[in-house]
Amino acid sequence: MSNLKQVVVIDGEGIGPEVIGEARRVLRWFVAEKHLGIETRDALYGVEAFRRTGKVVPDQTMTALRTADAILFGATGGPAYDALPAEAKREGNLLRMRKSLDLFANLRPIVAIPALAEASSLRSRVLEGVDFVILRELSSGLYFGEPRGIETLPNGERRGVNTHAYTSSEIRRVARFGFELARTRRRRLCSVDKANVMEAGQLWRQEVQALHDAEFADVELSHMLVDNCAMQLVRAPAQFDVLLTDNMFGDILSDAAAMAAGSLGMLPSASLGPVGPDGRRPALYEPVHGSAPDIAGKGVANPLGAILSLALALRLTLGEPGAADRLERAVRDALGTGVRTRDIMHEGGRLVGTRAMGDAVLAALEQTA
Ligand code: NAD
Repeated sequence: MSNLKQVVVIDGEGIGPEVIGEARRVLRWFVAEKHLGIETRDALYGVEAFRRTGKVVPDQTMTALRTADAILFGATGGPAYDALPAEAKREGNLLRMRKSLDLFANLRPIVAIPALAEASSLRSRVLEGVDFVILRELSSGLYFGEPRGIETLPNGERRGVNTHAYTSSEIRRVARFGFELARTRRRRLCSVDKANVMEAGQLWRQEVQALHDAEFADVELSHMLVDNCAMQLVRAPAQFDVLLTDNMFGDILSDAAAMAAGSLGMLPSASLGPVGPDGRRPALYEPVHGSAPDIAGKGVANPLGAILSLALALRLTLGEPGAADRLERAVRDALGTGVRTRDIMHEGGRLVGTRAMGDAVLAALEQTA
């Protein structure tokens, strides 16, 4: 066995190949210039995989995912994906991949970079000091609950059903992750639920509170209803440190929170599973955004969410925190030169495409000590 860390890279659909193309160039730079002990392998997924193998997630990809130290993923979805046979999509898709690797903890850091204040829809004074993490439960809840489906009722009406269900152990393991994370930050955790109308939300609140009282009294815990949280994220996002959410609430709230970072295209994410007996922890890194069919193939997508996802992989899985810091600094330095993709463009910015933004990050990397 090689001692090199194994990174499996998956482009996916839409803007996936464009943004991952830039993250791949950055990773290659670190391997070539800084001699990081990392080996990369490309794997097929989605529309392209189906065309070649008849499967959305081919067996070879699934094996590669299980043995990889880290997975770097672009995005999935869009018209070509939607047109695939329903059966093929049910058998293998991103949600299934996350589930089969038991990726329960999805970290979405939100940082307001001062250079992007003009790109944000929020006022500069609201953005001051914004630095928080949304911790989204990723392996259960409404996106996985049974029963689910569309049925025809005896009266001929159709009914769509999904089930929002959480067990106490599912809540506790992500809450534990959140409290431990808060201990490495400003020791504040805000747990989000809809306990006023949902039983699953009541259980969520009770379990988070009980774990806090038993083991994490040194962390300041608050509870917030999800509708209020949506408002607070645009009113005063700097109040948050760790924001703990279920699967669906985290999905929705992070898109709103993206405005504090200037654009959805800026947000990275890490999805982590439990630590195995061999000490390894399954890990998938991907930008928060989707396949953006409206801009796919035009070379205008912002690759920084994908590049910052690589920085998270370097820090959390690949044992290279120095390289991660350097890469995050290079992203800030690149933005400091004024280059802007369309989504973060503002008066005074210099409009560039996906590739040129990648070039700017590589140039900044060359210049950092
Ligand atoms: P989206 O995130 O793809 O796009 C939302 C908006 O943000 C679009 O206007 C898009 O142009 C813009 N945008 C997103 N990323 C950008 C980037 N890097 N640079 C510049 N602009 C960017 O969400 P959507 O349009 O609601 O969904 C499109 C498809 O993506 C759907 O099929 C959905 O299921 C899928 N999706 C996939 C993931 C994933 O792969 N993890 C996540 C969300 C949505």
